Order: sequence, then C-alpha cells, then structure tokens
Amino acid sequence: MQTPVPDYLLEVLESCGSSADGAVADYIPELAAADPDRLAVALATMDGQVHAAGDATVRFTIQSISKPFAYALALRDHGLPAVLASVGVEPSGDAFNEISLEEATGRPRNPMINVGALVTHSLVGDASLEPDARDRLLLDGLSSFAGRPLDVDERVFDSELGTADRNLALAYLVRSYGVTAADPEEVVRGYTRQCAIRVDVRDLAVMAATLAHGGVNPVTGAAVVPAWVARQVLSVMATCGMYDAAGDWFSHVGIPAKSGVAGGLIGALPGQVGIGTFSPRLDEFGNSVRGVRVCERLSDDMGLHLMGTPATGAHVLRRSVRDGHAHTLELQGAVRFSGAEAVLRAMSDLGPEVHEVTVDLSRITSIDDVGRRMLLEGVRRLGLDGVRVALDRPDYLERSPDQS
Ligand code: GLU
Repeated sequence: MQTPVPDYLLEVLESCGSSADGAVADYIPELAAADPDRLAVALATMDGQVHAAGDATVRFTIQSISKPFAYALALRDHGLPAVLASVGVEPSGDAFNEISLEEATGRPRNPMINVGALVTHSLVGDASLEPDARDRLLLDGLSSFAGRPLDVDERVFDSELGTADRNLALAYLVRSYGVTAADPEEVVRGYTRQCAIRVDVRDLAVMAATLAHGGVNPVTGAAVVPAWVARQVLSVMATCGMYDAAGDWFSHVGIPAKSGVAGGLIGALPGQVGIGTFSPRLDEFGNSVRGVRVCERLSDDMGLHLMGTPATGAHVLRRSVRDGHAHTLELQGAVRFSGAEAVLRAMSDLGPEVHEVTVDLSRITSIDDVGRRMLLEGVRRLGLDGVRVALDRPDYLERSPDQS
C-alpha cells in the first residue's frame, strides 16, 4: 500500500491553487522577479518522514522565516534573561518594518518584527565575533535545523542590501537607545545575509519540525537547541509570527507560524508536525495568500488547531473494577496532568474497605513527567494508608515510554 498523504497534499494544493490574489513583494528588487504561480507544501513528522507536493524543489530566500531560528540561536548562546533584556515578547500589531519599540526603554517589542530581528541577529554568538564568523554561525545553525547545508542567494542579498535604508534606520535607532552597541551597518549586512539564505519547502518543514520536536531535528537526530529554547520560540511565533495578522491567524489556524516576504511560510505544531509552504503572492500583511489557505485547510482537515479540545483526562481511566477488598484501575492513552488528576481522584474515592490496588499501566501510550510524578504520589499515599499497591508495568513510572 502507498500512503495517501502525498495524494492528499496534492489535492490540498489543487483546491487552494486557483487564487491569483495578492502581489509578489517588490520592495526588494530581486524578489519581484519571482514566478508568482509557484506553489508547494511539505510536512515533516516527528519520526522524520517528509511528504511534499507541488513545486517542492524550487528554492527561494527564507527572509523573515529566519527570525525564529536566529532567535533560537541567540537564546541558546545567551539564555533567556539576557535576550529578554534586549528584545521583548509582546505582539506589536504593527507591520513587519514598523518602529515598534517600548516607549521607556527603546527595547524592540518582539523578535519577529524587523527591529527586533536586527537586535536578535547581533545576539547570535559572542558579541566580539567577527561579522564573517557570525554569518557562518547563522548559516550553520539554520543548516542544522534543516538537516542539510544551506547556502546564500547572493543576488537577493545584494539586491536587498542596496535598498536597505529602512532597516538601517531601525538599526541606528535601537543603537541610539542603547539597546545594542552593535555597528548598525554590520548588523544590517549580516541580517540581510541571514534573510537571503535559500531553502525549499522540505527544508522549511524540517526546520519547523525541529522546533515542534523540542529542538531535536527529527530527520538527523541532532539536538540543535534545548527544549526550553524551542518552547520559547514557538510561544513567540504563536503570538507574533504573522505580523499584524497574528491574532486572526491564530484563531483561524491555531498553529505557531512564521511567514517571509519571498512567499515561504512555516507552521510548527508541538509534538506533531512541521509544515512548510511556498507561494510568492502576498496579502496586505506580507503573508503568502495561498500559503495561508493551505495551512487553513491542513489545520481544519487534520484537527491541528492548538486550542482544539483534546480527549479529556477522564478517558485515561479505562476501567475501575472492585473485587472484594481488591480494586483494579486500568489506564490507557497519553497520561498528562488532567488524566493523572482523574486517576488520583479515583484513588482517593476508593474507601477504607479496599486493601489492595492494582494499577494496570499496560495500555498507556505515553506519560509525561507531571503525570508520572502525580501517579507516584498517589501510589505513595495509598501506601501510607496501609493499602498494598501492585503496578503492572512499574517501569512506566520510572521512565516514560516516549521519555516525554
Ligand atoms: N529581509 C526582509 C526585510 O527585512 C524580511 C522581511 C520579511 O520577510 O517579512 O525587509
């Protein structure tokens, strides 16, 4: 049998492909030359499978989609407090190139708008790094997220650098506030190079999947950034990734995302999937029109909205059976806080006549650290009450099957 996923992706592209709405970005002269009809999508799963459809081999510049990854590298290199001291995490509701600075401090509101991304760029690696070394660190870092060596589109780089007045103005402005001491010309040069890194939709899907997989590239197995960094980046993508359309996007699609003016778009759903799309025509917010439609379809069809209600915790307790003084609790599925809470409640309702409890864990599919600690505490308290507890598969409480 052949998996139907690639056919499904083709069908999604066909259903979203007819729109010619929007316009190719032309404020960077070289981008205006892009073929507006290109359309591609890729999905990368948490076990490293990549499915793609459409113009999946076409390469384009990553542009603003580099911002979350540069942010990840800055967090890795300096830790959260130091990065937060220079760049905030509040949605700005402004366009990507707005002067969105906090009034009192001049700190950029978030790392997904240009002014914040310029500061983030300068935070990758040690402050004393030579510009070339920072360029390499970024290229290597983004390559690790993609799982293959990426390169820079020199034409787009030259084209944007020749027209980068606004980004230069922003870089001078943040330096004037003392947010950064970095040389504005150097920062804009390096940031523009970062934006000119070339990718295809598969690269984007794997990069997004690496964030969704706790910072570990699911294809290569490389630990690119720590899990706390991936969580921080996904949080900022959820609230600020789609510029001034971020609220609309999150309520419709519900996937942490980032768009770029060359027409790329990523979505990263924690623990499930990384998505990459490409279609160069943009809406008034600078987001790819058909990329947004494709993501809307995927989210609807596959129930990917983060705020969609998952199975309730009560389903974790499969059966609760009394036999004289003995009682068996059968658990199933993924045990997290709400499921473990339901089990603890069942334990506390057992009554004094129960002297023996069997907790059957053989049907659980995963248990996170909180679930494990809660169940262990329940077992400990039953023991204190004089109840004998037998665990079927006690190893599940030592270390979860999925190590989550
Ligand atoms: N390099 C672009 C700029 O700074 C990125 C903008 C974007 O992709 O939204 O203007």
